[in-house]
Amino acid sequence: MAWFTEYSDMITGESFAAYSSTSIEYVDDMGNTLEVPQHAAWCIKCGTIVNAEAFTTLLPMRRRMIELALVDPESKEAWMFPTRENALEARQELERLETFLSNRHSRPRCLECFSDELVEIPDEDEFGLPNGRRLKRCGFGHASMKIEPCFKLTPDGTIAK
Ligand SMILES: [Zn+2]
Repeated sequence: MAWFTEYSDMITGESFAAYSSTSIEYVDDMGNTLEVPQHAAWCIKCGTIVNAEAFTTLLPMRRRMIELALVDPESKEAWMFPTRENALEARQELERLETFLSNRHSRPRCLECFSDELVEIPDEDEFGLPNGRRLKRCGFGHASMKIEPCFKLTPDGTIAK
């Protein structure tokens, strides 16, 4: 499945979209795969909004949500985990990913050019970039018409052979 997040420049109106995909995975030496945590970022090399690895931001956020769902299943942050079993499975998956990434040496990479020169995009509706542009998040959804990127990455975020 592919998802898009759309942004627009608040001055020029130029629009950007980042596409994440469940078919971008890490692969270990044994051939086991794990879904790559992804989020939109500004890539300095690409000069635009891209889909990027997001393990430094999404993993801690996911852990907080799982722990909250286990402690307080009625909280609104627990919506992703309808049952305790869902939350426990998600925690196991997260721990596998954390173990897999524990020897990671490089920073998160752009999933288009694999550069690590990224500017993180805050999870806010409007935000500024270091280049002075101000962007607004204007949409999010299922990208059913998009041809999904499909590849496997090493633990350091480069394409696996
Ligand atoms: Zn890039």
